Amino acid sequence: SETLHIIGGGMAGSEAAWQAAQAGIPVVIHEMRPQVGTFAHQTGDLAEMVCSNSFRSDDHEQNAVGLLHWEMRQAGGLLMEMADRHQLPAGGALAVDRDAFSLGVTERLRAHPLVSVEAGEITELPTDGHWIIATGPLTSGNLAQAIRAETGAESLAFFDAIAPIVYFDSIDMSKAWFQSRYDKGETEAEQKAYLNCPMDRDQYEAFIDALLAADKTEFHEGETAGYFDGCLPIEVMAERGRETLRHGPMKPVGLTNPHQPDVKAHAIVQLRRDNALGTLWNIVGFQTKMKYGAQTAVFKSIPGLENASFARLGGIHRNTFINSPTLLDDQMRLKSRPNIRFAGQITGVEGYVESAAMGLLAARLAVAEMQGRTLPALPNTTATGALVTHITGGAEAKTFQPMNVNFGLFPPVEGLKGGRRGRKDRYKAYTDRAKADWAAWLAA
Ligand code: FAD
Repeated sequence: SETLHIIGGGMAGSEAAWQAAQAGIPVVIHEMRPQVGTFAHQTGDLAEMVCSNSFRSDDHEQNAVGLLHWEMRQAGGLLMEMADRHQLPAGGALAVDRDAFSLGVTERLRAHPLVSVEAGEITELPTDGHWIIATGPLTSGNLAQAIRAETGAESLAFFDAIAPIVYFDSIDMSKAWFQSRYDKGETEAEQKAYLNCPMDRDQYEAFIDALLAADKTEFHEGETAGYFDGCLPIEVMAERGRETLRHGPMKPVGLTNPHQPDVKAHAIVQLRRDNALGTLWNIVGFQTKMKYGAQTAVFKSIPGLENASFARLGGIHRNTFINSPTLLDDQMRLKSRPNIRFAGQITGVEGYVESAAMGLLAARLAVAEMQGRTLPALPNTTATGALVTHITGGAEAKTFQPMNVNFGLFPPVEGLKGGRRGRKDRYKAYTDRAKADWAAWLAA
């Protein structure tokens, strides 16, 4: 029967291979390591963890990444099986023995009668057959160029520039207000695409001091600081001059504060709607290399964000990813070449777990297609479904940046208390709904 080819034997590619082989489809994994390396990988093993040895929270009732674990376990996921087998004690987080984990994945895949691993770099886009590209954030330069030639330069990024994302329901709307600069936009939705938080002079000066003093992370060895052309980290802008931000992303022009129409703000922080649901808002221009602890402290000093809860914090990394909202269809196929699917971090999800989940899903979609079946649409009430819906359509294409799984991606559960106190019940309602819908989808 037909073969599924997978480029890249990382988190996504390994899980994809397992899912397809378990469904009876012969699989070839094309992996360039150890012949061709990356700056982060150390071994020739499959599913190597390039940095931390944690799959993050394992709480599947209160945490979206824990829910993703649960969904993958239900789907017979190999990576979760190996993570569970090689777990290390780490409180509520799922930390693993990284060497034993990758070796376990490698051995299981190599031992599978339907899986073979072909060593070597793929440098061109395949023209026929069924393929999944899962080459990750450090996709080799040759293949990246080939993808770029197909998608256009605008649609493939080599760095991410992640601004922090805030949950809407944690923003204090007695201080913030909806308005696009100069009231730009035709429709009400366009005019409500921005939220504004005002600062007076003292607040601004204190904010600049805090930015300058904050702890920053360094780039990993081998990452070049090529971000400097396009999008400077906010703290670097502040280093260039105390007024730089007030003339850049924090300029106080074209906006009127309805809470205090007579007071002219000294600076204004803008947030832009980050998803169609309107649950997630990113702080415009606030990509940063500040450490996570420092970010929370600094950003909570912004009026209106004192109680902000962050769906994700900011970052800048070497990260190859495509503009999935424009390039992929809802089956994760490249629209211009539907024989190719993409999976993993290169689709604009972020993290080991998210990458593996996208590998799992891409393989199941490919298998169904190869067997002449169509899977029922995956509900966006599941963690896997919420993620894929976000990258293939829910996210704003123009400002698309990699995304972690989080409850802001899920459609709200109606009829629950809002605010901090209601959060526990809400998250439980999300995960209960997700589990029921995932089980039903797997069964169908
Ligand atoms: P990978 O796991 O990188 O797998 C891609 C595979 O494709 C690799 O094995 C690579 O060798 C191979 N490949 C690339 N190009 C070709 C080609 N042309 N032909 C054949 N094979 C090819 N996430 C976390 O959750 N926690 C972390 O601590 C973390 N730290 C990170 C640190 C760094 C430096 C980077 C770059 C990323 C980090 N990530 C982290 C993000 C991300 O989750 C991981 O990179 C994850 O491994 C992505 O899974 P993937 O399958 O998409 O890519």
